[in-house]
Amino acid sequence: MSDCLFCKIVSKEIASDIIYEDDQIIVIKDIEPQAPIHFLIIPKVHYDSILTVPARNEIITQIHIVANRLALKYGIVDTGFRLVNNCGENGGQSVLHLHYHILGGRSLRWPPG
Ligand code: AMP
Ligand code: ZN
Repeated sequence: MSDCLFCKIVSKEIASDIIYEDDQIIVIKDIEPQAPIHFLIIPKVHYDSILTVPARNEIITQIHIVANRLALKYGIVDTGFRLVNNCGENGGQSVLHLHYHILGGRSLRWPPG
């Protein structure tokens, strides 16, 4: 989508701190980190949210696989981590391009608020 922040990050029209990339996914550091580890896992194909991902699409599985690998690589498996998808304005979604947050490196409270 031409006016989407994360599409521009995917196409590198807007610079970001990329920590992982493959043919389907890019992972960047969140610009306003809420924990010592706070990355955004972003599919390269634009979906507004999880609500518009077609059934049986493999991207959600791929996102989880990448999250697991990152958790291992960045040493947050033993201390615990959180994989978060905010959906909709009232669900805390501010960027309308599907993405998951991976947070770790500190004690995470529940509920998140
Ligand atoms: P959400 O509120 O779930 O839609 O998450 C959007 C996230 O994108 C927020 O945590 C922002 O801090 C982050 N963000 C916004 N702009 C940028 C950017 N240019 N580079 C990296 N992260 C960003
Ligand atoms: Zn987009």
